[in-house]
Amino acid sequence: MKVLNIKSIAGIFLLVCLLGNSFGQIKNREMIPVGVASVDITPESPMRLSGYGSRKTVFDSVEQKLWAKAMAIGTDEEGPSVIITLDLVGFPAVFAERLAYRVGHTSRVERKNLAITATHTHSGPETGALLNIFGRHLSGQELNQVVEYMMGLEDKVLGLVKEALANRQPSYINYSKGTASFAMNRRVIEDGKWTGFGQTPDGPVEHDLPLLHITDQKGRTRALLLNYACHGTTLMGDHNFVHGDWMGTAQEMIEKEFPGATAMVVIGCGADSNPQPRNEFKYVEQHGKAITDEVVRVIKKEKARPVTQAPTTTFKYFPLYYDHVPSKKEYMAKAEQDNAEGLFARNSLETLSRGGVIPDSYQYPLQVFSFGKELTMVFMGGEVVVDYVHRLKKELNNDDLWVNAYANDITCYIASERLFDEGGYEVDGSMHYYNKPSRFAKNTEDRIVAEIIRLINKLP
Ligand SMILES: [Zn+2]
Repeated sequence: MKVLNIKSIAGIFLLVCLLGNSFGQIKNREMIPVGVASVDITPESPMRLSGYGSRKTVFDSVEQKLWAKAMAIGTDEEGPSVIITLDLVGFPAVFAERLAYRVGHTSRVERKNLAITATHTHSGPETGALLNIFGRHLSGQELNQVVEYMMGLEDKVLGLVKEALANRQPSYINYSKGTASFAMNRRVIEDGKWTGFGQTPDGPVEHDLPLLHITDQKGRTRALLLNYACHGTTLMGDHNFVHGDWMGTAQEMIEKEFPGATAMVVIGCGADSNPQPRNEFKYVEQHGKAITDEVVRVIKKEKARPVTQAPTTTFKYFPLYYDHVPSKKEYMAKAEQDNAEGLFARNSLETLSRGGVIPDSYQYPLQVFSFGKELTMVFMGGEVVVDYVHRLKKELNNDDLWVNAYANDITCYIASERLFDEGGYEVDGSMHYYNKPSRFAKNTEDRIVAEIIRLINKLP
């Protein structure tokens, strides 16, 4: 019988160590560092609210606080990714870029790893994204209030990202999917043409409610990130108070259900969907509860899929071309109008008179977070209509594709080919609110979809 010599004992010891280590790694690999943080972003002084042009004065009360929240995922070595949700109607690209620059200089988070989203509440402050909505220039004082708010916001969100990064702890990430039915198509179509806003129960909608559930080693909920494709317009413009709409109430209710956890809402391709019913305070509670009950049900009853790696990411600005850049004569014909379209025409004439040009394209932000084969998350700028999520899921043959809109720049509506033929608010009627000279060119949907698929396929 061969006696084990020192060399073979050392070899066995090494093998045991390696096995132990690799088992440890397999176990550790399932746990991903995740950190979450929240900061109150309710305006502290009087200012104008945004989302509806009908309000004439600064807000009169705060009925619900607004929050910024961040979720940081991954190690410093691999470069952490951060998802931010802001209880705001939107924000201009310059806010996102300034924030990304400052985050990049104080952490290992690169631009492509930072996704900044808005919940699109229509009861939050004006942020500079929708200045034309008032139909007149805001006064110097009103503009100063916006600038002061945005400067404070930038500092707060920078601090928020730092806190989320510092809070990272080994966590389990689980993906699951529920459904909620209060989003209803709002485009009324007669003889193939848009006739106005209303309720179109048989119109296209997205009712999926994808959910990331973050737990600690003992299975305790640390955070919940959900997506639902619906406008933040339960509350309408006949009130003038600060509120997070159904998104704010859902976050509040979920955090009560899961004490100590952070709840985050991201909006999907719901730009042509309104919550129904709406326009009464009780419906905000009703929709918030519908989301909360579904989240609780999904976590208790549905089988979740583990997400075992931090995302790899990509980000790019992609040119979208306008259908038409109006001439000076065309702007002059509209400049007399006492509304948002008239204001936009006057602004454009002023630009031309200073020797400026009206651009023929717009740089549109697209971003993808790929959690390997387990989950793909897309971030699209602007108010994206429902056809995009349906088409992307179909073309990629992936019913679990997670599409976030209102991300990185709340720029304008992103209409689809079907809507181009019907016309109406999301195609033409809203573009001047966002300083856009016309609807987008006819092939815009095809170009965006092809670009997103290209970005997804580029990632591992
Ligand atoms: Zn909107």
